[in-house]
Amino acid sequence: VSASCDAAAKGRVLIVGATGFIGQYVAEASLSSGRATILLFRSGDTSPSKSQTSKTLQDKGATIVHGDMKDQELMEKILKEYEIDVVISAVGGANILDQLILVRAIKAVGTVKRFVPSEFGHDVDRADPVEPGLTMYREKREVRRSIEECGVPYTYICCNSIASWPYYDNTHPSEVLPPLDHFQIYGDGTVKAYFVAGSDIGKFTMKAVDDIRTLNKSVHFRPSCNFLNINELASLWEKKIGRILPRVTVTEDDLLAAAEENIIPQSIVASFTHDIFIKGCQVNFSIDGPNEVEVKSLYPDESFQTMDECFDDFVVKMDDHKGMTEGIIAQNRVVEMLPIINMCT
Ligand code: NDP
Repeated sequence: VSASCDAAAKGRVLIVGATGFIGQYVAEASLSSGRATILLFRSGDTSPSKSQTSKTLQDKGATIVHGDMKDQELMEKILKEYEIDVVISAVGGANILDQLILVRAIKAVGTVKRFVPSEFGHDVDRADPVEPGLTMYREKREVRRSIEECGVPYTYICCNSIASWPYYDNTHPSEVLPPLDHFQIYGDGTVKAYFVAGSDIGKFTMKAVDDIRTLNKSVHFRPSCNFLNINELASLWEKKIGRILPRVTVTEDDLLAAAEENIIPQSIVASFTHDIFIKGCQVNFSIDGPNEVEVKSLYPDESFQTMDECFDDFVVKMDDHKGMTEGIIAQNRVVEMLPIINMCT
């Protein structure tokens, strides 16, 4: 099968939110898979970083259309005109309910074969974080129910945590280097979680979107190579940087207090951090329901980027910003400089 035939066999994709953190990974993966990729961009924001993202994605073959997902008439027009087969939404936490209008547009047009709503985290029907995270989950649940009631074919992506140091106050932790001064360890640091590289979130989302086995199912990402607790994560990073850093405990009460402050979005992240690293929301259930599948069982020959490799990438980034990093280390007199002899895990 030639590459062009292969691309034609794949559905035409519309991505909403491709200028965002998760959406960029999905858009990159869609383009690398050779699919016709149409991106809905809101007009108005002309920040240099968004213009750069737009240019990079266009250079890779994306078609940009302008508009807002809240405009049902426009969405119906785009879905018809571009003969969209697959719609993926990666809108952020503040815009989850905007998707209700998109669902109505998809239903009205009736030709979309799969809708992937903005989830990209936990199974929101199972997880039960404290507020303010709970409000976001209630909204994501409302979108699920509307999709199911409208009979729109769907796939829910439950990819767990993005590979990075899981800062409890940062919505986009993989944009930040892991700590260089001290670690904040949640509770006793023994509760495990699954970490998935952004590029793998994109890659496996795109594999799932026209896979019949994921139709009307939740796809859970549980890569065994990246099943780590925060103590193990800290040790891995110490090996990479060749230093031992102090570990400071952030207790359950500290996380609950940060959540209770209700500063959006940081308190939402604090409530999820509590749910993951204190309550074990990623690991306290098995995937055995009729409407759920684990991604590795679908694609056993595909590998995930390991946390070890992700941390290597952070070391490269750190070297790129060496001057800045040295400044941080110099200021921090508590950092112990210990040679690590065996760098291999
Ligand atoms: P961002 O806030 O980074 O990006 C949101 C994107 O959606 C932007 O491109 C924004 O456009 C676009 N958008 C929002 N509303 C509309 C609208 N009405 N019409 C068209 N475009 C719109 O989102 P995140 O990447 O942080 O979040 C995406 C999803 O991923 C969420 O469900 C979130 O919960 C999840 N997530 C998961 C993480 C994990 O570790 N598993 C980490 C972070 C997020 P514009 O540029 O115009 O604002």
